[in-house]
Amino acid sequence: MGKSVANLTLTEKLHRHYDSRNFQPQDSSMTCFAVSVVWVNTLSLAAEGLLVLLPSHHLSGDQRSGGDTEAGGRAVPAGYRWAQAAVVWLLAETVCQWWFLRDGSRNIVPRARGPPDGSGAPDGSGAPDGNGAPGGNGAPKGWRRCSVCQMDAPPRSHHCSICQHCVLKRDHHCYFSGSCVGLHNQRHFIYFLMYVVMASTYAVYMQTAFLLRKEDASYLFPPVAMLKMLTAQTTVLSFVIMLHLYLSVISACAALGFMGWQLNIISKGQTSYEAMKGLSKYRMRTAYANFRCVFGSPLQCCAAFVLPVRPALPDNGLDWTE
Ligand SMILES: [Zn+2]
Ligand SMILES: [Zn+2]
Repeated sequence: MGKSVANLTLTEKLHRHYDSRNFQPQDSSMTCFAVSVVWVNTLSLAAEGLLVLLPSHHLSGDQRSGGDTEAGGRAVPAGYRWAQAAVVWLLAETVCQWWFLRDGSRNIVPRARGPPDGSGAPDGSGAPDGNGAPGGNGAPKGWRRCSVCQMDAPPRSHHCSICQHCVLKRDHHCYFSGSCVGLHNQRHFIYFLMYVVMASTYAVYMQTAFLLRKEDASYLFPPVAMLKMLTAQTTVLSFVIMLHLYLSVISACAALGFMGWQLNIISKGQTSYEAMKGLSKYRMRTAYANFRCVFGSPLQCCAAFVLPVRPALPDNGLDWTE
């Protein structure tokens, strides 16, 4: 570790190079695809709910076709208004949390904290996986040198080769937002997942109810639905909603899985990297204290869940005690 690059053999240089490489797909096309999936799925689900599923569920035939309003004698059911408000609220919250998740600017390790002596291996090995060289002269204990950023980085931070900077308390790179999940946006990642679970579960209920009103139960089986559409026994709309139903089930299951994993490691005071490496150096005494590091106080936690606010967290991401 302490050997300078000039003294390494070719084999050692190759090992060092490949050990420190972060073999993740490179950036733009994957991020573009994943972000598009989020937006297309979110907006199409909201539009489908407001324009098709809710009117079909709550209104009579006359009202759906626009032939009946309050003025026509039959009032629009209150349940319909509440359901519309719920869909708009879920859409707004999902977009808001995604936006805060995407903003990784607060997670960037400030360059001013690096020592001015410029020490460290200039070999491009960096510290993407936590194996960087110890910090330069004057660096606090536990800090490591990132030779990509050419500065010292605090404990729990790691370099992201996609974001191209060191990230405070880095958990992982999220392709669905195009940013790293770290100290300041991890709670928004979890809130975003919670809203995806809520919206997808509501969608599954409404989509299933719609299809069972229009078709028989066998229609929930895709080959049957495809056959019926090809033989003109059903509408394209029903077929699209059947496909969307499966997308909603997949979204709900995937978000629930991610959320379970995240809540599990947070309760143990770990990041994903630390959990995979079996490290628990920063674990607090209780699960509550561990949760508090990520979500803040209960009041701050609730505020950030329902309002577009980002209350300050107890940790600054630079000073960690083991
Ligand atoms: Zn770095
Ligand atoms: Zn990243």
